[in-house]
Amino acid sequence: MTSTPTATSGSTASSPAAIDPTGAAPVPDRPMLIGGEWVPSLSGEWADVVSPGRRGVVLARVPEGTEADADRAVQAAQAAFPAWAKLHFSQRQKALLKIADALEARVEDLAVLTAADTGNALRTQARPEANTLVNLFRYFGGVAGEFKGTVLPAGDDQLQYTRREPLGVVAGILPWNSPLMIAGMKTPAALAAGNTLVLKTAEDAPLTILLLAEICNEFLPPGVLNVVTGRGHVIGEALVTHPGVHKVSFTGSTRVGIGVGEKAAKRLAHVSLELGGKSPNIVFPDACTSELIDETATGVLTAMRFTRQGQSCTAGSRLFVHADVYDAFLEKLTEKVRALKVGDPLDEATDMGSIINQKQYDQVVNYIKDGKSQPNVRVLLDGEDFTADDLDGFYQGPTILAGVGNDWRVAQEEIFGPVLVAIPWTDRDDVIAMANDSTYGLAAYVWSQDLTAALDTANRIESGWVQVNQGGGQVIGQAYGGYKMSGIGREFSIEGAIEAFTQTKQINVKLNV
Ligand code: NAD
Repeated sequence: MTSTPTATSGSTASSPAAIDPTGAAPVPDRPMLIGGEWVPSLSGEWADVVSPGRRGVVLARVPEGTEADADRAVQAAQAAFPAWAKLHFSQRQKALLKIADALEARVEDLAVLTAADTGNALRTQARPEANTLVNLFRYFGGVAGEFKGTVLPAGDDQLQYTRREPLGVVAGILPWNSPLMIAGMKTPAALAAGNTLVLKTAEDAPLTILLLAEICNEFLPPGVLNVVTGRGHVIGEALVTHPGVHKVSFTGSTRVGIGVGEKAAKRLAHVSLELGGKSPNIVFPDACTSELIDETATGVLTAMRFTRQGQSCTAGSRLFVHADVYDAFLEKLTEKVRALKVGDPLDEATDMGSIINQKQYDQVVNYIKDGKSQPNVRVLLDGEDFTADDLDGFYQGPTILAGVGNDWRVAQEEIFGPVLVAIPWTDRDDVIAMANDSTYGLAAYVWSQDLTAALDTANRIESGWVQVNQGGGQVIGQAYGGYKMSGIGREFSIEGAIEAFTQTKQINVKLNV
């Protein structure tokens, strides 16, 4: 939704007005950050940001950024690049560590705003996500000196060395599902390596990124970090095709990611793509003994990201359970999932918040209907049954479908909602083949006490990240990224950041010795 500017909108270098997460206060305008200045779009258009958990509540208005805004953000980043790139690494490190401290001091504000802006529940998702952001700035600040080259032992009369040089201007394009964490994968890593950055927020959840920008802006020279808002096919595409952008770091859907990759390839810009997933959970019988079944069920619930409404690229949304324990395990899991409290994201008691918007909500419902219409499907939990008269948002309960065929749409396509499908298995080779029968390859979860079987399975699964006997989120410092249609490139680790945000220069010198 767009509207014309009010008297309060306009360029200002001071901090923008705060946002009331309940929407009770007058709706503030949250301008973009370009070259250290808070600016509206050159078009003068603004877009309402609606809280997914409180339908009808407008949290703020953000500029409807255009191609011209992308251009001036890239120019600001280009202008800031030479001075930022040539700093001693310890100076970039100092800035990033100061930002980490400042973020930590505002971590609760970031968490509450995440809950309001994304619909992710404060306790289970928004607060951990805000803490992860702090830790990512601290981690990449800490390893800022590791973006270093090598020396070839080529004889005493030769100095043959490499430099890991920054790429230049990086465009980071963000999704709405966990904006702070994704921004945390890109921002401190790109900056530590000496790049400057233009972040493009997602239309549905831009506000936490603007708060992040506000905090960063206190410690960074103007233009080092710019944040723009607006529609993907307008300002997002303008960044991808801009000749001044040397690297596009995109996180989002596979469909959009393919287009971004194609356009970046046309001008040979560097690109990394963190895309969708349809990740398998494989449960062996020995993970379901009377001592372990409870723990395994809790782990699968976590891996499925039910407390993020399933709106996670790493959701273990295909559950393969050995036939010997299929019924018992599903009974235990269903009992646990049924107990989740769906509700207001800002309420501490809530386990599972709201879906992001009407379109996503309708899409999830359509998948549930499609799954339920298949022959011999067993509906263990039906999200469509969920009602909450006191809530006005995109709320839905969790769904578990059993007896699902691996070739059904609900088993093959990324639903990006709280829908888990369960498929029985009896033979290890077969279950690995079923797990790999997917266009995606982002994450996987294996549950077994037999480490030989578990690691053989982990080794044979075509995914960029496999966890054994645990289902939590990424650990800072690990390699993270997809196989197959789940993406190209790695983020989260220093090794990934070196590959993602630097290029190698070889220098060979003849010495007079
Ligand atoms: P999306 O692809 O619709 O949008 C992602 C971003 O791309 C948004 O900022 C959007 O405005 C922008 N965009 C849209 N069209 C564009 C274009 N033509 N050019 C440039 N930018 C454009 O994804 P979404 O709905 O925001 O997020 C959900 C998807 O993201 C899911 O598929 C999920 O699996 C994926 N995701 C992946 C990861 C990962 O780490 N692999 C993490 C989170 C989300």
